[in-house]
Amino acid sequence: MFAGKGEAMTTRLYENSVFLEHHTPPGHPERADRLRSLNIALEHPHFAGLERIEAKVANEDAVTLVHPEEQFFAVMRQIPEEDGEINQIEADTYVSERSLQAALTAIGGAMAAVDDVFTGKADNAFVASRPPGHHAEKNKAMGFCLFNTVAIAARHAQKIHGAERVAIVDWDVHHGNGTQDIFWDDPSVLFCSTHQMPLYPGTGAKEDTGVSGNIVNAPLSPNVGSDHFREAFKSRVLSAVKDFSPDLILISAGFDAHHRDPLAQINLVGEDFDWATARLMELADRTANNRVVSVLEGGYDLEALAESAGLHILRLMRG
Ligand SMILES: [Zn+2]
Repeated sequence: MFAGKGEAMTTRLYENSVFLEHHTPPGHPERADRLRSLNIALEHPHFAGLERIEAKVANEDAVTLVHPEEQFFAVMRQIPEEDGEINQIEADTYVSERSLQAALTAIGGAMAAVDDVFTGKADNAFVASRPPGHHAEKNKAMGFCLFNTVAIAARHAQKIHGAERVAIVDWDVHHGNGTQDIFWDDPSVLFCSTHQMPLYPGTGAKEDTGVSGNIVNAPLSPNVGSDHFREAFKSRVLSAVKDFSPDLILISAGFDAHHRDPLAQINLVGEDFDWATARLMELADRTANNRVVSVLEGGYDLEALAESAGLHILRLMRG
């Protein structure tokens, strides 16, 4: 437990079959096959040491850590009663009969992972959930996201475990507008994002720095690759996290900056996610007792997602 850099870590993986029961229309990129693809990769003997835990469903109170109660009910009202039905709740955001259960179970998994790293049951954890969460603003479900899972995990760490400073690092290729919205005026949470610009949702300018410099945006131009990403990650994200000295590092782990991804034009390779994970683990070793909790966001090419998330999890396990 609490092994130093380069020693084996205790890594937990939170999963639940309900994540496969959140359905979107045919052709939608955010689909259950994403997790099926990752699960096949995780069958490799490399992952034998992973502690795989069934995520439990969170209750409505967890949602209200960052969203008003009305937002919970607004999503609930849209849930269809019949299996097989799909409702569109926003431009590209859909719900099926089990979507609320899936979103609440993603939150339950992320909160349990936070509990684990604060109580010493694990050094770090990955939550293999869907729907994703980082586009969900305080008052708005959008961009495939219903509730902001990683933001709720941050608030849970503060409320239950007394974390004074929580850093959220978001390397999904889309800007985490929801997380920025929620923590804009809160100096106790640092939010750092690398993302392609211009790209959906259009936010994430470098000049947007929050109430106290607690928002750090590192936009990347289309068609850049590993070198640009690593330079921005080092000079903007890692330096900010180091200065902030967090008690916990949360990762909004999207893998759609991979060159194979159909939704963006950043040309990363799987090894870049391994590299970024290792750099954050070094900082967590220094300031946060190794505490890292990573939550799956985007990543829409099945092969790239399985490879990149696999390397990310392997790095969490190996330190
Ligand atoms: Zn994304």
